[in-house]
Amino acid sequence: MPKPGPVPDAGWCLLPDACASVTLVIFVATRSLQGERDTVNTQGFVNTALRHATETKKARYEPASDRLSTATRFGGTPWWPNGADRPCCDRNHPMSFIDQISLGDVPGFDSADQRLLSFHYCEDCAREGQMSFGWPDDRGRGYDLCFLDPTAGSSDGHGCVAHDWIGARDVSFESIEEIPAVGDFDEELDAIVPIDFFSYEPPDFDEYSPLPADDVYPGLKHVSGTKLGGHPSWLQNPDWPIGTSGERLRFVAQLDMVLCSELAWASGMAFLFAAHDGAEEAELVIQST
Ligand SMILES: [Zn+2]
Repeated sequence: MPKPGPVPDAGWCLLPDACASVTLVIFVATRSLQGERDTVNTQGFVNTALRHATETKKARYEPASDRLSTATRFGGTPWWPNGADRPCCDRNHPMSFIDQISLGDVPGFDSADQRLLSFHYCEDCAREGQMSFGWPDDRGRGYDLCFLDPTAGSSDGHGCVAHDWIGARDVSFESIEEIPAVGDFDEELDAIVPIDFFSYEPPDFDEYSPLPADDVYPGLKHVSGTKLGGHPSWLQNPDWPIGTSGERLRFVAQLDMVLCSELAWASGMAFLFAAHDGAEEAELVIQST
């Protein structure tokens, strides 16, 4: 009776070279297929994201000598109608002027719209209340948002009547097509977002920059700093204000933490929204980290 020998190892030891070749071919083919699939998925995601892209105006703001202006401006002296009281909170603090935005500058609004969306904020209340919105008034507000028409009259000429936390800035804009922020992806985009989207760093990535880079993925941009129109850069869950019509108010602007470094929401962002159909409805949303 022959002695039992070692059991052959499932053929590997019979034709090791041939098996290795087959394995290698299968491995290469799998990698190639996977690579193709990734390319297709990535391109599909980029194409779909671009269908959601819309114009934003990225703001560059430089310290400037203060002067009266009906243009979009941050800090300094507001244009304010003659005869109207400047904004004051219900605790009689004069509110600080933050910005005025010419709605005609905002993508998505009528470019002929010369109204200003004027934004004042009670930093005194915020500091006393140790919270972003200060002491709430009867509408829960420590701020004032109103529509002004500089073509309808003259300015009050009172200059700056409350502490200016921003400092007068001239503003210029760069138009950029941007995709929504991640929190605003719809189901279609959410379903196909590539895994490396969340770890992508652009070639000029600067880890010391206070704001993320505009290049969020090859071929895709999202502006996270101060801008007019486009998509809000939510820091927490999206919080779209709804107008009395039941529709979302339109995104007008966001003010970043660099511009607002002296204000109560310095670690976050202020978002302004308004109705775009001529109705005088506007809302402020502040999110901080
Ligand atoms: Zn106040």
